[in-house]
Amino acid sequence: MEKRSSQTKVKVVVRLRPALSTNEKTCVSVVDNRVQILNHRNIEESLQYEFNTVFDEKTSQVEVFSTSVEPLLEKVLHGQNVSVFAYGPTGAGKTHTMLGVNSDPGIIPRVIQSLFKTIELKQKSANDLSNQAPQFKVTFSYMEIYNEKVRTVAATNLNKYSSRSHTILLLKIHRKEPSGKELRGKLYLIDLAGSEDNRRTGNKGIRLKESGAINKSLFVLGEVVDAINQNQPRIPYRNSKLTRLLQDSIGGGCHSVMITNIAPEEKFYYDTYCTLNFATKSK
Ligand code: ADP
Ligand code: MG
Repeated sequence: MEKRSSQTKVKVVVRLRPALSTNEKTCVSVVDNRVQILNHRNIEESLQYEFNTVFDEKTSQVEVFSTSVEPLLEKVLHGQNVSVFAYGPTGAGKTHTMLGVNSDPGIIPRVIQSLFKTIELKQKSANDLSNQAPQFKVTFSYMEIYNEKVRTVAATNLNKYSSRSHTILLLKIHRKEPSGKELRGKLYLIDLAGSEDNRRTGNKGIRLKESGAINKSLFVLGEVVDAINQNQPRIPYRNSKLTRLLQDSIGGGCHSVMITNIAPEEKFYYDTYCTLNFATKSK
């Protein structure tokens, strides 16, 4: 009988960002690997969610990187495909997690620094042993998916639609061994569109169309992650642009991490609730 190989699960982690000001009421707390959404009016109705990994508001950028992403880089350098994406509502910390700021860089700059350092070390240690070193070629591409269309975007327009489109950085790594053997790995680093349900906020016209497209592709992403994590035989990759693009880098033997970003303020209550339900379903 043919043995169906099992899918490598998508790892789901949660990151709570710190409160941005002291005069806003908060409603989320993290204890160990549990997240609690507090209902201040009715404590009985407070909700609790458990995950394998939860980063509380004090977790540093380097810790998120070294725990969730760094161990996967060696796989990319050996010809495997990997994807890392940040999910959550606008304002919850996706861009901070993926890109960060100059004084506190996030996953993307750390990945690039670490990859080049590792490549340099591999070549140095081969030289030290008087062995021939493998050769590496790294190429980058940047894409956005907006309204279910892929279009590459000029850097000047980067922020224009940033919360309404999926921004995708793709690193391709080509490795050539002295023996002539070649390996090709891909790494997708994705800052997803905001997961908030914009239909609630009364958006009309073009905004509503965008929301429909965002909701659809995030919904399909959730279905794809569920299908992979439940080891279903059929994964619905073809149902959205984003998952079609990611088809060779999520599921199968590929390693993927979904960093679910949440905000502590009470005004995010409903978004946090929806986001954690999405993450719980996907884990
Ligand atoms: P998103 O991309 O999900 O819309 P941002 O990454 O822009 O959210 O974060 C919203 C705000 O919160 C920004 O001002 C950002 O600098 C801040 N922020 C997010 N995460 C953190 C964090 N872990 N530590 C400090 N500030 C954060
Ligand atoms: Mg953002």
